[in-house]
Amino acid sequence: MKLVEFFNNYPNEAECKSKFKEIREKQGVVCKSCKAKDEYWWLKSKEQYECKKCGFRMSLKSGTVMENSKLPYQYWFIAFHLMTSTKKTISALEMQRQLGHDYYECIWAMMHKIRLVMGKRDDLYKLSDESEIDESYFSTKYIFESDEFTGQQEKLKRGKGSQKKTSVLVMASQKKITRKELKRDQDPSYNLPKFLKMKVVENGTIEEIKTTTEKSLDDNSSIKADKAKSYPKAFRKYEKVELYDMSKHESGKILPWSSKAITNSKNLLKAIHHAIEANYLQNYLNEFCFKYNRRYFGEKVFDRLLIAAVSFVWY
Ligand SMILES: [Zn+2]
Repeated sequence: MKLVEFFNNYPNEAECKSKFKEIREKQGVVCKSCKAKDEYWWLKSKEQYECKKCGFRMSLKSGTVMENSKLPYQYWFIAFHLMTSTKKTISALEMQRQLGHDYYECIWAMMHKIRLVMGKRDDLYKLSDESEIDESYFSTKYIFESDEFTGQQEKLKRGKGSQKKTSVLVMASQKKITRKELKRDQDPSYNLPKFLKMKVVENGTIEEIKTTTEKSLDDNSSIKADKAKSYPKAFRKYEKVELYDMSKHESGKILPWSSKAITNSKNLLKAIHHAIEANYLQNYLNEFCFKYNRRYFGEKVFDRLLIAAVSFVWY
């Protein structure tokens, strides 16, 4: 959606609010108290939903991503637009400038809530068919905690367990190229990328990799991965697992789509957010994957994000 179209569709606060209400009701309003769905009256003067079953009242924003937010609907809509209209990512500082808002913190928090929504939406789907799995370390900032009594700061560990590196499991599904999609001189064994998941793994234990993989891939998936990374035990559930000795291959050839996703996401994050706190890395990855998985949606990504935002529940 171009900026002009965006402002034609959503010229002011009232228009954004009414669109938000319309979509929320289309997705179904669920009572926060008794969970009854679509059993409500809209109290126009109070701008609240009242549950027909239990009488509980809630505001229009309540129970959605905007719960407790004092920011106008239009800010959220502009943020949805700016975060989905480019392949790149936008910093909270830039968003604050664009919105002309006085406070950085609430804009920063709004963007992280949007990234949470993106992640939760993608968690509804599992990868199928053939998936590449790889692990990569992302540079992150670590906030040192100083000792309560001595005031001494924690020391930074070196290497794999370093607090400045955060491990991410990258899963990229692919599909065989069809005859129709095959371009001239292209290798027919070539696969096309489908969907992507990137998940922070806190300790990198086999158990953690196993749980993350099983949450992300459906049971009939086949897996391609690096032999050296102690994966066999984590992948026991899957029948078709191909492990490669990567010292003998170029990773771009065996795991092309996960390698590409790692390079692209690192470059993107480095360019915009120079120091990401480890705790927030997952949110940035959510944004990258959400957009990647909808790369052919064009302007519909905005609508999808809007639907995801109204159906997102905090409780
Ligand atoms: Zn109720």
